[in-house]
Amino acid sequence: MARRQGHPVRDIVCDFDASETTCPACLTTFATQGVTRCPECGLNFA
Ligand SMILES: [Zn+2]
Repeated sequence: MARRQGHPVRDIVCDFDASETTCPACLTTFATQGVTRCPECGLNFA
């Protein structure tokens, strides 16, 4: 699957190496430290 260059697509990725991440379900941004579930909707990332 080739992705066209110069056409930015912003995928939502839960990056728990970052200090905060965005929930793919409810789009809440929250700090990842010590968290395995979204504090807003309870989506489990573990
Ligand atoms: Zn959520």
